[in-house]
Order: sequence, then structure tokens, then C-alpha cells
Amino acid sequence: MAVNWRLQGNLKVISAHIKKVCPKATVYSVGDASHQSRTSDHNPYNWGYGIVVSAIDVMIRNGFTKTDAKALVKALKGRSDIQYIIYDGVIWSRSWGWTAKTYTGKDKHRDHVHVSARHTKAADQDKRGVKFRPDPQPNKTLPKPAPNQKSNQEKARDNKPAPKAPVFPLGPNGDYHEAANPRFKPGVKQFQQQLKDRGWDIKADGFFGDKTTEVVRAFQKEKHLGVDGRVGPLTWKAIWEAKVTK
Ligand SMILES: [Zn+2]
Repeated sequence: MAVNWRLQGNLKVISAHIKKVCPKATVYSVGDASHQSRTSDHNPYNWGYGIVVSAIDVMIRNGFTKTDAKALVKALKGRSDIQYIIYDGVIWSRSWGWTAKTYTGKDKHRDHVHVSARHTKAADQDKRGVKFRPDPQPNKTLPKPAPNQKSNQEKARDNKPAPKAPVFPLGPNGDYHEAANPRFKPGVKQFQQQLKDRGWDIKADGFFGDKTTEVVRAFQKEKHLGVDGRVGPLTWKAIWEAKVTK
């Protein structure tokens, strides 16, 4: 078929609506070989408003049921843009006012609904589509998780009033750091334990090694403290009293 044809406009919109409700539905426009050998709306023809195919066959399969077929007939018959409909041994046509008549053709159309459009420009431009089943409801979206969902354990930790930091053992000018000697000090174990309780990956062994420096630096960075890897009075206080944010 070399001609440059298109499906008649109203049928195109109707087909799209069928596909919207039954995404896997089969809707043929160009008929099979038997249709092509004779005059048929399934063959492209220039009706004066374009070279169009002006019929569709909606197959009863892939989610388009017999109930849908009946509903489709009901929705389309009588419309100004439709010429006739055949389904299940019955033909409805505007030629005689849409009453149901027995279809005498050989193919009784048991497995599909044939819809022929009216050959008018107005019919070609009819955009109303068809409603034969309620439109599918959009999938209910699951409630979005809160942006920063925390475990109950984390929440419990967050809701606890911030503890008061114990008095800093080394006085206003002292600090704990990696190079201190001796490096095992009770205060070290104490702040390590507190960091650990806050969720930091640290061992409370009382030894201020490079791992402790690393965690202290990360903690200082998170709390916008001066990042020096040392635990002086300010960092010490923050280890207890700063809000847990991580
Ligand atoms: Zn057909």
C-alpha cells in the first residue's frame, strides 16, 4: 500500500482512549487481506478531507473484554461521527436510525468490534474520544518518607535532653591530644565513651591514637568548631552538649 494515508481523526482519538484504559488492547485500522480485496473502510480512500482509513477493529483480547465491547458499542452508536458498528452478529447503523439488526455478513464479528466512521470532515475532526469504562485511577503514590528518617533508637537519642558536660578535667588551658604523654588518661576514655554513645565509630579504650584524632576532627568539623584534633574545653563541652546531628 504505497499511498500516504492516515487513520481518520475521530477514530484516532477513540483508539487512543481505548489504549489509555486497556494499554495492551489490539486496535487494527487496516484490515486483513479479505478486507483489502473488496471495498472497505479499512482501505485508504480519499474522501475529500484526506486519504484516510475510516474503520477500526477493536479485538476482544489483551484486557479488552466482551463487557468492554458492549460498552463501546453503547457509547458509540448514535454519534454524529460514526456510520456503523458491527459486533457479535449485530449491526447498528445511522442509515436506519441505529436500531440493532442481524448482521448477515459471513464474519459475525464475534472476536472484535468493527467501527466505521462517517465520511465527513466534521467526523474527521471530532475529538471527543470515547468513554466505555471509567478512566484508570492514577497509582496512589506511597507517602513519601520524611527526608531524614531516623530509627527509633536515633529518635530516642535525639529527644533526650542534652546532658550537661562533666567538668573538663584539664582546666581552661589544657587539652587532650594524640602526642600527649601519657596518652592513656581517664578523661580520654570518658569522652571516647560519650562519642561512642553519640554514634561515632570509636573505641573507648582511653588511648588517644590517630583513630581518636580522626574522629575528633570529624566531630569538630560537624559542629563547626576549630578543627585541630585536640579535645580542649570547648570540644569537650560539645561532645556532651552539642545537638546530635549525625
Ligand atoms: Zn473491521
